[in-house]
Formats: sequence, C-alpha cells, structure tokens
Amino acid sequence: MAKVLILGGGFGGVVAAKRLAEQLGDEHQITLVSRSRYFVFYPALVRLAFGKCEQEDVSFDLRHAMLDRRVNFIEAEVARIDPYKRKVTIAHGEVEGKLPYDYMIFALGRRLATERISGFYEHAHHLLNVDKAIRFGKAIANFHDGRVVIGQCAGARLPIPIYETAFALAKRLEENNERERVRITIVSPDAIGSEFGDSDVGIKLQKALDRHQIEFLPDFPIEKVTEHAAMSENGRAINFDLLMLMPPFRGASAALYQGITSDAYINVDWSMRVIGVGGMYAVGDCVNFPGPKMGHMALRQADVAAANLAAEIGGHEPVAHYEHEMRLVIEGGGDSIYLHKDIWTDEPSNVRQGRFWSWAKRAQEKYWETATFNIKKFQV
Ligand SMILES: Cc1cc2nc3c(=O)[nH]c(=O)nc-3n(C[C@H](O)[C@H](O)[C@H](O)COP(=O)(O)OP(=O)(O)OC[C@H]3O[C@@H](n4cnc5c(N)ncnc54)[C@H](O)[C@@H]3O)c2cc1C
Repeated sequence: MAKVLILGGGFGGVVAAKRLAEQLGDEHQITLVSRSRYFVFYPALVRLAFGKCEQEDVSFDLRHAMLDRRVNFIEAEVARIDPYKRKVTIAHGEVEGKLPYDYMIFALGRRLATERISGFYEHAHHLLNVDKAIRFGKAIANFHDGRVVIGQCAGARLPIPIYETAFALAKRLEENNERERVRITIVSPDAIGSEFGDSDVGIKLQKALDRHQIEFLPDFPIEKVTEHAAMSENGRAINFDLLMLMPPFRGASAALYQGITSDAYINVDWSMRVIGVGGMYAVGDCVNFPGPKMGHMALRQADVAAANLAAEIGGHEPVAHYEHEMRLVIEGGGDSIYLHKDIWTDEPSNVRQGRFWSWAKRAQEKYWETATFNIKKFQV
C-alpha cells in the first residue's frame, strides 16, 4: 500500500486527486491537505467583482467532491515539508502534526509577495481571493468620477485579469453613460502584450484598449503606493482615485530551504517530478517554468504528474510528458482575444479575436466545473 499526499486544494491538487483516485487501486491511500475546504475558481473573480456571477458560482466544497472519490481530506495549513524524510508538518489552529508519506504531489500555488510593494496593503485593491474581489466590486460600483489605475507589478505573472478588469470597467461605464467622467489607465513594467510573448496579441490589445479609451503606460515597475499615487522604481509617479494591482508572485513558502527551488519556484522536469528528491512531484503555479501562471497549465501538469506517479507506484517508467503551452482567452466582449502558444518551441502562435471566444471561455469553464465538482456548491 502506498500513502500518497497531495498538498493544495486548487486547480492542480484537485485534478491530481481526481486522476489518482481513478488510476490507483483501493489498497492505496490518497490524502489531500488544504487550508480551506473551498476550492476557488479564480478565473471567474473578475466577473464576480462586476456582479456577473455569485459567490456560490466560484467556490466549491472540496469535502463533497473528495468524498465522492475516496480521497481523505484534511483542512489544515501546511507549515513545511521535509522531502528527504518524506514528512509534512501541518498546523490546524494550535495543533501541529506530522504526516508521513511515500509519494507527494505539491500543489500549493503561489504566494502574493505584497510586502515587496510598500503601501500595497493599505491602499491597493486586488482580485486574488473572493473577499477581495467582492470588496473591489463594491468600490467600483460606487465609483463615478476620477481616475482608476489598474496595475501589473513586476513578477506578477498573471496579466489576464488586468485587461479583463479594464474592459469590464469601461463597458460598465459606457452602459451607464459615465465613460467620459472616468479615466482608466493600465500600468505595467513591460510593453503591451509582451507578457504573452506575442507581438500580434500586443497589437490587438492596443487597438481594443484604444476603442475603449483605456490608456496603457509601459515601463512602470511599481515600487511604492501612497493614498493617491503609485511610484515606480525608475522615478515616475501616477495619481489615482482607485487602484487595483496584481501583486508580485513568489513560490509557496512551504517548499523553501530544501534545495529544490530556484527563485522560490520548485524545479521539476518534463514528467513533473521534483528534481533532486525521490517520490515528489509538483504542479501548478508553484513550479519553476517560464511565462504566466495559469490554471490550464496546472490542470495539464496534474494530469501528467498523476499518470507518472501511478506508473511509479506500479514500478514503471514515466508514461506522460508535459508540454508547456499557453492557451488563454482575455475576455472583453466583442474584443475578446484567444491565444494558443507553445512556450518551449518557436512554433508560430495562433491568435484570434471576437465575441465567440468570450462565450467559449465560459462554456469551457462550465464544462470543467461540472466534470470536476459534479456541481455540488456550498451555500453562503
Ligand atoms: C483573478 C484571476 C483570474 C485568472 N484568470 C485565469 C484565466 O483566465 N485562465 C487561466 O488559465 N488561469 C487564470 N488564472 C490563474 C489560475 O487561477 C491559477 O493559475 C491556478 O489557480 C493555479 O492553480 P494551483 O493549483 O497551482 O494553485 P491554486 O489554485 O492557487 O491552489 C493552491 C491551493 O493551495 C492552498 N494552499 C496554499 N498554501 C497553503 C498552505 N500553506 N497550506 C495549506 N493549503 C495551502 C490554497 O488554499 C489553494 O487551495 C486566474 C487567476 C486569478 C487570481
């Protein structure tokens, strides 16, 4: 019998648990540990902020989903891991405990390094959890006059919600005949579209922003925020009445100081095995791959890790190979942009634009939620 521990109840952890429950015999024990019993569907948080969906549409109870699949679920904080002794230290309230394992899939996502931006906590909104998205939504609903700055900090690795927020805000103001009273500016350390590694996306984005009179200010790596101004590392400043920022990302703290990370992200190979230790795999935002951090990457990595872990338990060589690609839709109504790009090769990317992609993104999300959670929502 093998004891398999999965850390993290997000995209990577949930799909890894689902796949392992399908692939491993009942004699093996699968346990998932996460700090909250609720899975959060992050890509819907912009829609939540703009009142286009409800809280129960973006959160799902993991215990029900896991019980359906014979996975033990422990609601606890992962304090640290010891991949050499194969033990994980967890904390629940005052109580600390150690969980031994034979195999582990690490899927604790990313940490928000808000401490790197002075004043962030006091003066900036963000969209990276349900409560903050709702809070930002309230601020936006009450905003009728002035300047909104939407900013990507250096190291944020998640450009989609930046553009989606700007488009959603412009659309709402247009519908309310308030567009002329509000100035919208996106600030970024990079040139437009460069986060996606494709100049065609940059051109399409710029045209779409122009159509909605949204300004884009490149070369603005935010360093500090005060009540009404954001300052960049290179000495520039911009005033705002409302600020929403994507903070810098870092890898999950629990994996640090074990010799398995570079710049806090976990080093894995194409089979999703952690380099330098046995019996450990890592998937999702926590891994050290280039490009943006995205949910569809976590899902594919979880598929690969689960297949290879099941093979390893059965005494076989890895059977699945991860290919690092970007597949995304930036939602903006008729201006929605679709991009498919292979990050590890120089293959030309596929870029499309139109309302269809907005619809396709929602349809794909609905399909995924239904398949993964059997739509057992919790009641708020
Ligand atoms: C606003 C927004 C919009 C997005 N839009 C898109 C999009 O359109 N398309 C796309 O592909 N991606 C999108 N993403 C990115 C996508 O959501 C992430 O890439 C994805 O969630 C990563 O999955 P993960 O499993 O690695 O991490 P997460 O989903 O972050 O899961 C990590 C899990 O680990 C738990 N955890 C963390 N630390 C601990 C700890 N110490 N102890 C116990 N539990 C812990 C967390 O509670 C969570 O359950 C978006 C993200 C946001 C925030």
